Amino acid sequence: MGVEETLGSNVITTSLDKLVNWSRSRSLWPMTFGLACCAIEMMATGAARFDLDRFGVLFRASPRQADVIIIAGTVTKKMLPVIETVYEQMPEPRYVIAMGACACSGGVFDTYSTVQGVDEVLPVDVYIPGCPPRPEGLLFGLMKLQEKIMRERNSFGAALGVGERIPG
Ligand code: SF4
Repeated sequence: MGVEETLGSNVITTSLDKLVNWSRSRSLWPMTFGLACCAIEMMATGAARFDLDRFGVLFRASPRQADVIIIAGTVTKKMLPVIETVYEQMPEPRYVIAMGACACSGGVFDTYSTVQGVDEVLPVDVYIPGCPPRPEGLLFGLMKLQEKIMRERNSFGAALGVGERIPG
Protein backbone atom coordinates (compact mmCIF):
# COMPACT_ATOMS: atom_id res chain seq x y z
CA MET A 1 0.00 0.00 0.00
CA GLY A 2 1.58 3.27 -1.12
CA VAL A 3 1.36 6.72 0.41
CA GLU A 4 -0.96 7.92 -2.38
CA GLU A 5 -3.35 4.98 -1.83
CA THR A 6 -3.57 5.70 1.89
CA LEU A 7 -4.00 9.48 1.72
CA GLY A 8 -5.70 9.81 -1.67
CA SER A 9 -5.47 13.19 -3.39
CA ASN A 10 -4.65 15.01 -0.16
CA VAL A 11 -0.87 14.68 -0.65
CA ILE A 12 1.59 15.14 -3.47
CA THR A 13 4.88 13.29 -3.42
CA THR A 14 7.77 14.83 -5.32
CA SER A 15 11.50 15.44 -5.13
CA LEU A 16 13.17 18.62 -3.92
CA ASP A 17 14.74 19.04 -7.36
CA LYS A 18 11.31 19.06 -8.99
CA LEU A 19 10.03 21.53 -6.42
CA VAL A 20 12.95 23.89 -7.08
CA ASN A 21 12.57 23.50 -10.86
CA TRP A 22 8.85 24.11 -10.67
CA SER A 23 9.17 27.28 -8.60
CA ARG A 24 12.04 28.54 -10.76
CA SER A 25 10.28 27.88 -14.07
CA ARG A 26 7.02 29.50 -12.91
CA SER A 27 8.66 32.74 -11.78
CA LEU A 28 10.87 33.77 -14.70
CA TRP A 29 11.81 37.42 -14.37
CA PRO A 30 13.25 38.80 -17.62
CA MET A 31 15.59 41.75 -17.78
CA THR A 32 13.86 44.81 -19.28
CA PHE A 33 16.05 45.06 -22.34
CA GLY A 34 15.26 45.55 -26.03
CA LEU A 35 17.48 46.15 -29.03
CA ALA A 36 15.29 46.75 -32.10
CA CYS A 37 11.89 46.07 -33.68
CA CYS A 38 11.49 42.62 -32.00
CA ALA A 39 11.37 44.47 -28.68
CA ILE A 40 8.04 46.01 -29.73
CA GLU A 41 6.59 42.49 -29.99
CA MET A 42 8.13 41.66 -26.62
CA MET A 43 6.42 44.71 -25.08
CA ALA A 44 3.12 43.69 -26.69
CA THR A 45 3.52 40.22 -25.14
CA GLY A 46 3.82 41.81 -21.72
CA ALA A 47 0.78 44.05 -22.21
CA ALA A 48 -2.87 43.32 -21.41
CA ARG A 49 -3.88 41.30 -24.50
CA PHE A 50 -1.25 38.56 -24.05
CA ASP A 51 -0.56 39.19 -20.35
CA LEU A 52 2.78 37.60 -19.49
CA ASP A 53 2.02 38.04 -15.78
CA ARG A 54 -0.25 34.97 -15.86
CA PHE A 55 2.88 32.86 -16.52
CA GLY A 56 4.68 34.42 -13.56
CA VAL A 57 6.82 36.39 -16.03
CA LEU A 58 7.50 39.87 -14.63
CA PHE A 59 9.98 42.22 -16.26
CA ARG A 60 12.61 43.65 -13.92
CA ALA A 61 14.57 46.87 -14.32
CA SER A 62 17.79 45.52 -12.80
CA PRO A 63 19.90 42.57 -13.99
CA ARG A 64 20.48 41.69 -10.34
CA GLN A 65 16.80 40.82 -10.00
CA ALA A 66 16.47 39.06 -13.37
CA ASP A 67 17.07 35.42 -14.27
CA VAL A 68 16.35 35.52 -18.00
CA ILE A 69 17.43 37.90 -20.74
CA ILE A 70 15.43 38.08 -23.95
CA ILE A 71 17.69 39.26 -26.76
CA ALA A 72 15.00 41.00 -28.80
CA GLY A 73 16.47 42.66 -31.86
CA THR A 74 19.58 43.19 -33.92
CA VAL A 75 22.82 42.68 -32.00
CA THR A 76 25.35 45.23 -33.23
CA LYS A 77 29.02 44.97 -32.38
CA LYS A 78 28.71 48.34 -30.66
CA MET A 79 26.06 46.99 -28.26
CA LEU A 80 27.81 43.69 -27.60
CA PRO A 81 29.87 44.88 -24.56
CA VAL A 82 26.66 46.24 -23.00
CA ILE A 83 24.84 42.93 -23.50
CA GLU A 84 27.76 41.01 -21.98
CA THR A 85 27.91 43.36 -18.97
CA VAL A 86 24.17 43.06 -18.31
CA TYR A 87 24.39 39.25 -18.60
CA GLU A 88 27.35 39.07 -16.23
CA GLN A 89 25.41 41.08 -13.62
CA MET A 90 22.55 38.55 -13.56
CA PRO A 91 22.71 35.95 -10.77
CA GLU A 92 22.89 32.21 -11.47
CA PRO A 93 20.95 30.33 -12.69
CA ARG A 94 20.34 32.59 -15.69
CA TYR A 95 18.82 31.88 -19.05
CA VAL A 96 18.97 33.42 -22.53
CA ILE A 97 16.25 33.59 -25.17
CA ALA A 98 17.20 34.68 -28.70
CA MET A 99 14.06 36.32 -30.08
CA GLY A 100 13.82 36.83 -33.84
CA ALA A 101 16.00 36.20 -36.87
CA CYS A 102 18.49 38.95 -35.98
CA ALA A 103 19.26 37.60 -32.49
CA CYS A 104 19.33 33.99 -33.79
CA SER A 105 21.54 34.50 -36.85
CA GLY A 106 21.96 38.17 -37.76
CA GLY A 107 18.81 38.06 -39.90
CA VAL A 108 18.99 40.11 -43.07
CA PHE A 109 21.91 42.14 -41.70
CA ASP A 110 24.91 40.25 -43.04
CA THR A 111 27.10 43.30 -42.50
CA TYR A 112 30.40 44.27 -40.85
CA SER A 113 28.57 45.88 -37.90
CA THR A 114 26.14 43.10 -36.95
CA VAL A 115 26.84 40.04 -34.81
CA GLN A 116 25.69 36.95 -36.72
CA GLY A 117 23.77 35.46 -33.83
CA VAL A 118 23.98 36.27 -30.12
CA ASP A 119 25.06 32.67 -29.46
CA GLU A 120 28.54 33.80 -30.53
CA VAL A 121 28.86 35.31 -27.04
CA LEU A 122 25.99 34.07 -24.82
CA PRO A 123 24.76 30.51 -24.16
CA VAL A 124 21.30 30.61 -25.77
CA ASP A 125 18.67 28.28 -24.26
CA VAL A 126 15.78 28.91 -26.64
CA TYR A 127 15.72 30.26 -30.22
CA ILE A 128 12.54 31.89 -31.53
CA PRO A 129 12.46 32.29 -35.33
CA GLY A 130 10.59 35.00 -37.24
CA CYS A 131 10.99 38.60 -38.36
CA PRO A 132 9.50 39.54 -36.01
CA PRO A 133 8.03 36.60 -34.09
CA ARG A 134 4.48 37.27 -32.95
CA PRO A 135 3.71 37.42 -29.20
CA GLU A 136 2.44 33.83 -29.43
CA GLY A 137 5.95 32.87 -30.57
CA LEU A 138 7.51 34.45 -27.52
CA LEU A 139 4.93 32.79 -25.26
CA PHE A 140 5.76 29.42 -26.84
CA GLY A 141 9.48 30.09 -26.37
CA LEU A 142 8.96 30.89 -22.70
CA MET A 143 6.98 27.68 -22.24
CA LYS A 144 9.83 25.74 -23.90
CA LEU A 145 12.22 27.35 -21.42
CA GLN A 146 9.93 26.28 -18.57
CA GLU A 147 10.04 22.69 -19.88
CA LYS A 148 13.83 22.86 -20.11
CA ILE A 149 14.15 24.10 -16.53
CA MET A 150 11.84 21.27 -15.36
CA ARG A 151 14.38 18.76 -16.80
CA GLU A 152 17.30 20.17 -14.76
CA ARG A 153 18.90 17.86 -12.21
CA ASN A 154 20.60 18.52 -8.86
CA SER A 155 18.90 21.94 -8.64
CA PHE A 156 18.43 21.63 -4.89
CA GLY A 157 21.93 20.32 -4.24
CA ALA A 158 23.50 23.09 -6.31
CA ALA A 159 21.47 25.69 -4.38
CA LEU A 160 23.06 24.32 -1.20
CA GLY A 161 26.52 24.34 -2.78
CA VAL A 162 26.67 20.56 -3.25
CA GLY A 163 27.72 19.70 -6.80
CA GLU A 164 26.75 21.40 -10.02
CA ARG A 165 23.33 22.01 -11.52
CA ILE A 166 22.90 19.76 -14.56
CA PRO A 167 21.08 21.65 -17.35
CA GLY A 168 17.92 20.14 -18.85
S1 SF4 B 1 14.23 39.92 -36.63
FE1 SF4 B 1 13.15 41.41 -37.93
S2 SF4 B 1 11.73 42.44 -36.52
FE2 SF4 B 1 13.30 41.41 -35.26
S3 SF4 B 1 14.88 42.96 -34.90
FE3 SF4 B 1 15.47 41.81 -36.74
S4 SF4 B 1 14.65 43.02 -38.46
FE4 SF4 B 1 13.60 43.70 -36.59
